[in-house]
Formats: sequence, C-alpha cells, structure tokens
Amino acid sequence: RGALVWFRRDLRAFDHAALHHALRAGGPVHCVFVFDKPILAGLPRDDRRVAFLHASLAELAQELETLGGHLVVLHDDARDAIPALARQLNVAAVHAAEDYDPAAIARDSAVAAALQADGRTLHLHKDQVIFAKEEVLSRVGKPLSVFTPYKKSWLRRLEAEPEALAPWHVEPHAAAFAPGASPLPSLQDIGFAGADLAAVGIVPGMEGGAALFEAFQPHLADYGTARDYPELDATSRLSLHLRFGTVSIRHLVRTVMQLSARGQAGEGGATWLSELIWREFYQQILYFNPQVVEASFKPAYDRVAWETGAAADELFAAWCEGRTGFPLVDAAMVQLNTTGFMHNRLRMVTASFLCKDFGIDWRRGERYFALRLNDYELASNNGGWQWAASSGCDAQPFFRIFNPVTQSERFDKDGAFIRRYLPVLAALPSKQIHAPWLHGGVPGYPAPLVDHAEARQRTLERFEVVKGK
Ligand code: FAD
Repeated sequence: RGALVWFRRDLRAFDHAALHHALRAGGPVHCVFVFDKPILAGLPRDDRRVAFLHASLAELAQELETLGGHLVVLHDDARDAIPALARQLNVAAVHAAEDYDPAAIARDSAVAAALQADGRTLHLHKDQVIFAKEEVLSRVGKPLSVFTPYKKSWLRRLEAEPEALAPWHVEPHAAAFAPGASPLPSLQDIGFAGADLAAVGIVPGMEGGAALFEAFQPHLADYGTARDYPELDATSRLSLHLRFGTVSIRHLVRTVMQLSARGQAGEGGATWLSELIWREFYQQILYFNPQVVEASFKPAYDRVAWETGAAADELFAAWCEGRTGFPLVDAAMVQLNTTGFMHNRLRMVTASFLCKDFGIDWRRGERYFALRLNDYELASNNGGWQWAASSGCDAQPFFRIFNPVTQSERFDKDGAFIRRYLPVLAALPSKQIHAPWLHGGVPGYPAPLVDHAEARQRTLERFEVVKGK
C-alpha cells in the first residue's frame, strides 16, 4: 500500500534516511511537509526562518518531481494532518526523521498513536546526527555530561562503525515514488509576509547549503585559529542549513574526514569536526535531560536569585536593543537584530554579559535568541546559554566571568567588527573603541549601564548559593 514520507527538518532529496527506507520498502511513496500551525503561531510575519523554509520547500518539491515524486505542502496542525493524509492515501506506514526536542517527541508520540489506531505505523529514522540517544555512552553504559569524554566515545564509536557515515541513497530507488503535482501554498497563504534572505547573504535550500560548504572547504585549515574573530567570517555559516537539513551531516563529516586524511584540512579540520560533535553532544543532553528546557542542568543553580523588576526589565531591553554602552556587546546584538546571525564568540560574550554583568536569568536571554536566531536550535541554544550562565553540563565555572572590554580587545582588536555594526563609533581610534567612556564618551552612544568590576563582585555573591555544588 506504500508509504508517506513526512519531511520536517530534513529538507533535501539526497542522503535521506526516511526517503531511503520508505522507497526501499516499496511504493507508491508520497511526500508531505506540514507548516505546523502550533509552531508558526507567535512568529513575526517577516520571520526569516519561515521564508527560508518556504524557499527550500519550493526547491525540494521541484527536485522530488524530477525524481518522479511530488511533495504535498499543508498548513495545519501536524497531529491531525498526518494521520488524516495517511488515511486518505491509505498508506501502510509513515516514515520521518527522529527529532530529539521534547515537544517534537510528544508530537510524534501523538501522531504514532493516531496512526496505530488506524492500523498504520510511524517509522522514525536517525538522520540529523551521526550518533543519537544511547549510541554514545560512557564505558559503563551511562549518558555523558562532559564534552571531552563524550567526544572520545563518539570518535571510538565511529571507528567501530564507519558505516554510520554512509549515505542513505534515494535516486536508485526512485521508481517507487508516487508521481503527482501539488501547488505550494504561498507565504501569504500561511500568514507570512516573506523576508529578504539575499539581503543578509542567505541562499536557501540544498543549493545554498552545498555552495556554502564548497566555499568553506579551502578555509578549513585556518578554522582553528581564525574562528574566534568575528570580523574574519572564518566559520562555515552552515548552522541554518544543519537546522533544516538542507545539508547532510554524513556528507559534512565524511568530507572533513577525507580532507583531513589527505592532509588538506590542517588543524582546523579536527576543530571543526569537534564543533559538529558539540552539536550532537547538546542533542543527547536534551534527549536524556528534557527538564533542561526550563530548569538548570545543575539543579542547585536554580537557587540563584536573578535580578527582577522594572530596573532589570530596563537592562534587559537595553541588552536586546544593543545599547548597554559596551561596544562589542552592542555590536553583536545589532548583528543579531539586523541579520539573524551572531558569531559564536559573541554569543558567548553577550550571553555571559546578560547573566553575569546584568544578573538576568539565562532563560530570558535564551528566549530572545530563540526568537531572533535564524539557526535557532533548542538543544544548542539551551546548551550555550546554560554554559554561559554556569548552570549547564560542562559549563564555564561561575567565577570565570568574561570581561566585555578585554574580550573586545582580544577578539576585535582593531574594532573592525564594532565599526561595521555601530557606525556611531566608526571614527574612534582602535585604542578607544573598546571602552569609549574612558576617553570622554561619544555623543549618541550610551555610557555603560553597569560598572563591570562591581557587577562581577555582585555575581560572585549571587552565586555563593551554589558553592561546592
Ligand atoms: P561553525 O563554526 O562553522 O561550526 C559548524 C557547525 O557546528 C555549526 O553550524 C553548528 O551546527 C555546530 N556548532 C558549532 N559550535 C557549536 C556549539 N558551541 N554548540 C553546538 N553546535 C555547534 N548553534 C545553533 O545551531 N543554534 C543555536 O540556537 C545556537 N545558540 C547558541 C547560543 C549560545 C549562547 C551559544 C554560546 C552558542 C549557540 N550556538 C547555537 C552554537 C554556535 O554559536 C553556532 O552553531 C555557530 O555560531 C554557527 O555558526 P557556523 O555555522 O558558522 O559554525
């Protein structure tokens, strides 16, 4: 009776676990994507991620048609729409990729139950990571909460199971596709206005992902040394494509390992692979500890008394809007607000600043990033924020507090990044740009809203409650 492949965060037509398994089981294979109303509710009308999704779906639909299939795109609640479509098509099974986000797990269980009531099965396949769930554990079979042992165990597993990188082929089994054609609803049809992706340098879809990775490969060798300097633009920018599966993680890992084996990736190859392993580390942390969505990974850290009330709200608004008076923090927030991207070093600096200079709960910052980041991913965002707040697994110890001025002097020495995003400071000499208030200030740019040394002291006191925990 065939199957239905439910696309979610795997928007490609190659190396695709769910497609591969459905096609191999025999056709006809139908494909569907649901613009899930509960997820879309509350997003701004010009949300770039929705525009990215929409453009990527147009490409995917075309690619599936070239292969002999077609993509149905619905705007509905997936919990109802998937069982209903499966019933309408009378398929025996639905195939999709595993998702480790607790809300997605709950949605998938509800869909599986509804399908089962009709005598159908939901098959979930690992696709967006190399290793998931119980596949990487300690030597005594326990989940790991420190990165270095996790990474070692991940690499050991890959050595023992190199086939984990093998592609899930689609094309050789394409005869099983159900042909057809379905109109793609417009962005307006689903309540969005669209966004100018090109203006912020984003090329959506498989084409965009492949082009970015191609362009990044010659820079891999320098990644280890250059990746911390925001102005150098030395990172891959693939996070958005990894988020929506317009690239294949297996292809990325295979390629970087091949380049490394040929001596073409230098030190940077291993460092970049480590970052991809961080991504999987946070996904397994979330899988084994779904409570981190709301709670600190280290429970004692929920005893920390964060600043609240009108004064804290004022500080929070200033942080969001990039007017804290600390140029690197403000430039980073402007980058986020205007492009939807923020460099990793700056995510660390701004998150640390909110929690440790302003004393504001990491959850507030996390939610702001979730709204603004094009590459927003619950596991990595929560992991990053809890790292900065010191409440997370393998986090920064609470007494290590970034100094926003020395971070600026180190990672944006000449102030080029600050100048790019804060034109009001563009004319300042490099020596003055990191702390303009020490040099008389600049009209139109705020004085710092806190004194870092005093804030640092308050933070050390605030965290007294977790000492030894
Ligand atoms: P590259 O440096 O080229 O790295 C390659 C890939 O590795 C990235 O695309 C990403 O998938 C993964 N990666 C890199 N660093 C990390 C990391 N520290 N943790 C997990 N995965 C990593 N990443 C997101 O994808 N979504 C988020 O919502 C997110 N929120 C963050 C919040 C904070 C407070 C912090 C400190 C980090 C966050 N990160 C997040 C991780 C990281 O900043 C981004 O993945 C990275 O900046 C994306 O740029 P890139 O693709 O050029 O990365």
